[in-house]
Amino acid sequence: MTDYSDSFINKLLGQMTLEEKIGQLNQVNPDERLDTDFIRLGKTGSLINASGALTGQGSSESVGPELTNYLQQIAMESRLKIPLIFGRDVIHGYRTVFPIPLAQAAAFNPELARNAASIAAQEASASGIKWTFAPMLDIARDPRWGRVAEGNGEDPYLGSLMAASLVMGFQGDDMALPNKLVACAKHYVGYGSAEGGRDYDNGEISEPTLRDVYLPPFESAVRAGVGTIMSAFLDLNSVPATANHHLLTDVLRGEWGFDGFVVSDWESVGELIYHGVAENRAEAASIALHAGVDMDMVSQAYLDTLATSVQSGKVSVKEIDEAVLRILRIKHRAGLFDHPYTDPNRFAREVLTDGSRQLARQFARESMVLLKNNGDILPLRDFRKILIAGDFVNATTELFGTWSPDGRAGDVISLQQGIKDVAPKGVDFWFAENVDQALVYGIQADAIVLVLGEHPRRSGENANLSDLSLPPGQAEFVDLMVTLGKPVVLVIFAGRPLVITCQLAQVDALLYAWHPGIEGGAALGEILFGTKYPSGRLPITFPRATGQVPIYYNHKNSGRPVTLDGEFKSRYIDLPNPPLLPFGFGLSYTSFEYSNPELSQQILHDNILITAEITNTGKQAGTELVQLYVRDLVGSLTRPIRELKGFQLIELKPGESRRVSFSLTEEMLAFTRADGSKGVEPGGFQVWIAPDSASGLCAEFSL
Ligand code: BGC
Repeated sequence: MTDYSDSFINKLLGQMTLEEKIGQLNQVNPDERLDTDFIRLGKTGSLINASGALTGQGSSESVGPELTNYLQQIAMESRLKIPLIFGRDVIHGYRTVFPIPLAQAAAFNPELARNAASIAAQEASASGIKWTFAPMLDIARDPRWGRVAEGNGEDPYLGSLMAASLVMGFQGDDMALPNKLVACAKHYVGYGSAEGGRDYDNGEISEPTLRDVYLPPFESAVRAGVGTIMSAFLDLNSVPATANHHLLTDVLRGEWGFDGFVVSDWESVGELIYHGVAENRAEAASIALHAGVDMDMVSQAYLDTLATSVQSGKVSVKEIDEAVLRILRIKHRAGLFDHPYTDPNRFAREVLTDGSRQLARQFARESMVLLKNNGDILPLRDFRKILIAGDFVNATTELFGTWSPDGRAGDVISLQQGIKDVAPKGVDFWFAENVDQALVYGIQADAIVLVLGEHPRRSGENANLSDLSLPPGQAEFVDLMVTLGKPVVLVIFAGRPLVITCQLAQVDALLYAWHPGIEGGAALGEILFGTKYPSGRLPITFPRATGQVPIYYNHKNSGRPVTLDGEFKSRYIDLPNPPLLPFGFGLSYTSFEYSNPELSQQILHDNILITAEITNTGKQAGTELVQLYVRDLVGSLTRPIRELKGFQLIELKPGESRRVSFSLTEEMLAFTRADGSKGVEPGGFQVWIAPDSASGLCAEFSL
C-alpha cells in the first residue's frame, strides 16, 4: 500500500544532505545533553523526554507544552524545518495514573484498556508529547522478571486483544489528531523470556513457540496500525534483537507489511558491542541499521559513525534513505508537519478530568482479583471496629506502580481516605503501620484488614527477584495477626504474582489489588464494603514456590505427565505440580454454576458453536468471566494442554441463568509446524467452557 504522504516525503528526502538524513535517525536524551544547536543543525530526529535514568522508578519533572513548543521552534529554524517528535514512556496513564498494565489485563476488558489509553494520549499530548513507548507486549512466563508488571501476562490470545485495543486507544483512527499519540509496540521480541527472570539476559525460544506465543501480540499491534516498534535488549537464540534482520525486516515488514519505523531500546545499538557481535560503535551502528533499526535511542552511534561508514562503503545511502523515509512517514502521518506545536491551553482543560478519574476508579476495581473469601467475610458487614494494618497503610503514590513519572502525590485518593469515604456510618477504624501498634489495636478490633505487598520500586525494569515471597517482615506480620483469632482480610499490592501459599491458607479472605493507580484507594474501599464487587481474573499463573517458575497454563504435556500412574514422571518430589492459582482464576461475591455444555456439531467444518449455561447460584449480583479453552489432542508437533480461544464477561443477578456461546473456526486452531507453515491438522480436539484454565465443562469434537 503506498502511503499518500510518500511523495511528499520523497521530495523532502531529495533535498536532505547526508548529515541531515542521519540526524533524523538520532534520538537524543535531553536529560543528559540538551544542545539546541544540535536541533538547529538537523542532527536530532526525536527527543526522549524521559524519566530515563530512573528506568521508570519514581516521578520526574513534567514536560509541558512550553518546553516542547520552545524546542520545536528551534527545529523550525533548521534548514528544512523538519519537526521533532517528542517521545515519553506513557505506560499506564499520564497524570491520571491507571492500574499497571498487568492489572489492566486482569480486568479481561480490552475496551476499558482502550479507553484508558485514549485518556493517556489526551493528557500526554496536551503536554507536548506525540509518541509513547507503549504498549509493552512481552509475554511473560516468569514472575521473577520485574517487567512482568508492564505487560499483559502470559497468554498470547489475551495479549493480542490487549495489543490491538491499546494501539487503537493511543492512536485512535487518526494519529494526526492533536489528542492522539503514536504508539510503540515493545520490546520486539522475546524480551520476557530472559533466563532466570534476569532483565536484559538472553532467551532461547523455539520457532513454533516464537510464532505461536511471543509474536502474535506484535502482529496484532501491526494489524491495528501501530506506528512504531521498539527492538528489545535481549539476545534471542544467539542474535541480539537489535541486530536481527530476519525478525525486524523479513517478518515485521515482509510478512506483516509494517510500514512504520523501528526504534532501538535505550542504547541497545551501542550494546551490540557487549553482546559480542560488533567490535566498535561503527560496526554496531551498521549492523543495527542493516537489521532494520531506523532510529537509535540515545546511544548516538548512528550520528557519530554512519557518515564515515557510507564513505567506506559499509553502509549504503539507500539504506539510510529507507530509514529516513519510514521516520518521516510517521512524523507526517502524525500530523507534525502541519501542526508541530501544542496548544498550551489544552492542559488545564484536558488533564485529570472527572471522567478520567471515574475511569481510573472503574479500572482499578475491575482489575482487583478476589482469591479467597471464606464464610463470605467480604464485603465487610456488621464489623464496628476495624483495624487496617501493614506497610501500605499510609500508601499514596505507592499505589501508582512502576512507570508513573507524571503521577502526582496530591492527586491520589490515599488508601485511608478511600476506605473511610465508603465505610458505613458507625464503623471505627484504627490504622497501624507497624506490628506493635497493630497488636494493641488488633486485640480490640472486630476484624483486621492487612494491607501488604511490594513497593513499586520492587517491580518494573531491573527489579528482578530470586525469591518471590512477600517482602521481609510481612509474612511474620500476617502470622502475628492471625494468632489474634479475629477475621483477617489480606490485601496485596504488587506488580507481579508473589508466592502467597502460606498466607492464602492462613487468612479468611485475600484480595490481589496489584498497583491500582490514582483511584486505587477509592476502588479498594468500594470493594471492601461491597458498594461494588470484584470481577478481575488472573492474567498470569500464581506459583506455589519460586522454584516452580517458569510456570504457565498453556504448557506441553511431556512424555511423562504428572497425571500418569507411577513415580518416574515430570514433577518435584517436594511440591505438587499444579500452581497455587491457575491462569483465569478469580472469585466473586456470589457463586456461578456451569451446566449443559453443547456443541452445534461433532465435526468442525469451517465453524462450530459451543454453548453452556451459566447460573448465578449465590445471593449477590456478580460478573463472571466465561472462558473458552481448546486442546488439540494429536499434532505433527506437540501441542499445549490448553489454549485460551475466547472469553466473555457476563453480569448475572442472583438466580439468573444465561446461555453463553462461542464460535470456533478452523483458523483459530492453526499452529506453526516444523516446516514453518501455519495451519490446522485433522484429528480430535477437546474444548472447555470454564471459569479458569484448570477446570470447566469439557466436550470433544474432531476436524
Ligand atoms: C526501557 C524501555 C523504555 C526506554 C525509554 C528502556 O530502559 O527498556 O521500555 O521505553 O528505556 O525510557
